[in-house]
Amino acid sequence: MAEKEVDDRFKRFGTVSFTAITGINDFIGYLEGGTVMGTTCKACGAIYFPPRSDCFRCLNSNMAWFEVSGTGRLLSFSELNYGPVGFEDDLPYTIALLDYGEYRVFGRISRDIHYENLNVGMELRTEVTALPNGQLSYAFKRP
Ligand SMILES: [Zn+2]
Repeated sequence: MAEKEVDDRFKRFGTVSFTAITGINDFIGYLEGGTVMGTTCKACGAIYFPPRSDCFRCLNSNMAWFEVSGTGRLLSFSELNYGPVGFEDDLPYTIALLDYGEYRVFGRISRDIHYENLNVGMELRTEVTALPNGQLSYAFKRP
């Protein structure tokens, strides 16, 4: 009897493991290849980041991957001195929202940009980063 292989690539994401989300483990495969990807619904065109394997607008599961490329505009940011469980060792860090026009990406500002140098409206890129513990994530960096 063959053992069923479990796709658990999501364990490689972030400081704390995401619960494996069936259908979007390829997100980690793409991160390993250096690209940050979202999904778009082939039926209605809805765009999702983080990626979803089902469209909650039209309930279709026919999704395509797209790369989060180019720059987004910094919409808002906030320095965190108290983090969720599992993130305590990373504090302080800055969370932010980038506006890519058709979609928005929520994430962290790279440590090489000082908080004082952040301004709403500035252009930033979303890039894959490897955390010290070997986990993969993404962060916002200067273009
Ligand atoms: Zn849809």
